[in-house]
Amino acid sequence: MTFPVVGMVGGGQLARMTHEAGIPLGIQFKLLSDTPQDSAAQVVSEVVVGDYRDLDTLRDFARGCDVITFDHEHVPAEHLATLEADGIVVRPGRAALAHAQDKGVMRARLDAIGAPSPRHRIVADPADAVAFAAEGVGEGGGDGFPIILKTVRGGYDGKGVWFVRSEADAHDAFKAGVAVLAEEKVDFARELAANIVRSPHGQAVAYPVVESRQVDGVCDTVIAPAPELDDELAGQAQELALRIAKELDVVGHLAVELFETRDGRILVNELAMRPHNSGHWTQDGAVTSQFANHVRAVLDLPLGDPRPRAKWTVMCNVLGGDFPDMYSAYLHCMARDPQLKIHMYGKDVKPGRKVGHVNTYGDDLDDVLERARHAADYLRGTIVE
Ligand code: ADP
Repeated sequence: MTFPVVGMVGGGQLARMTHEAGIPLGIQFKLLSDTPQDSAAQVVSEVVVGDYRDLDTLRDFARGCDVITFDHEHVPAEHLATLEADGIVVRPGRAALAHAQDKGVMRARLDAIGAPSPRHRIVADPADAVAFAAEGVGEGGGDGFPIILKTVRGGYDGKGVWFVRSEADAHDAFKAGVAVLAEEKVDFARELAANIVRSPHGQAVAYPVVESRQVDGVCDTVIAPAPELDDELAGQAQELALRIAKELDVVGHLAVELFETRDGRILVNELAMRPHNSGHWTQDGAVTSQFANHVRAVLDLPLGDPRPRAKWTVMCNVLGGDFPDMYSAYLHCMARDPQLKIHMYGKDVKPGRKVGHVNTYGDDLDDVLERARHAADYLRGTIVE
């Protein structure tokens, strides 16, 4: 075979969709998955079932791969360092990934390069969280609450994030035995994401900045491009993402999650160095999807055009509800909206679990939003017509 082998660590839906994007290119995928039932393990032909926390498993897996990339950020940094020392090509590399693995490391680096963050510092205990809150008290007085506490590692989908109104609320964050980062509670108008892809030799492409709406800490809807976003602010967000990628030497897809403040500034919430939920719209709404560009980037191929194909594209996540048979909803959804694209992950339906998403597009934003929302709700079983 003359085609390269991409080793993907982690068997979730991001791996599944990255593999899908590699198929037309003839790229071989090898997967390291926790179980044979994981979303990507169901579709990739070469699957190693094993634990990514075990160095020997990782080393065996890496043998025969031309490059290693990731579905998640949880591979221990010391293992990544060993793989790199073994001469394995790891993209993004250990040094870049450290910023997506640890929110404390990320904040310190963003400060060093002058990227805007919410006010923050590591706090030692609940009393220190009270002191942090008080440090933010302006002329209005008060105790400085509410604040946000986050474990520096291990959080996802709002887990590991606490909204704290008093010292008593602060105790839970310290129970995990992981360092805790305190942040001012940003009074944001909305959440945005600036997504870019960068290749090893430094080519980079920027997708339009999107609006991301969360429900209970989980991404629910993404609108591309972000409606009524000031052109200058959109340009600033894209430049910021490109600059972060360059400074941190990110290879592949980088999602920069942002807050847009009510006074028209952007602040970085967090970084993800892999394809990201805020980029799923690109599968059907951009000339080159985030997954296709991630594959190109990790192989150091020229990147594809990131421009949108439609005026508006909306993505809605499909969360599991009480209705396990999603296939029976296809007839209605497809008949109602011929533009609709359904992406299912092969996961068992459990309440609140992300089991798929839909994309749809068109010229009228309200109409596109309504069609995407309807399809996601219908698949979930919350609307029965
Ligand atoms: P996760 O790792 O779970 O994605 P995030 O750091 O993105 O955690 O936080 C989850 C959500 O919590 C964010 O999408 C946002 O809605 C809210 N949040 C996080 N940090 C702040 C903050 N400093 N101010 C206000 N809201 C925040």
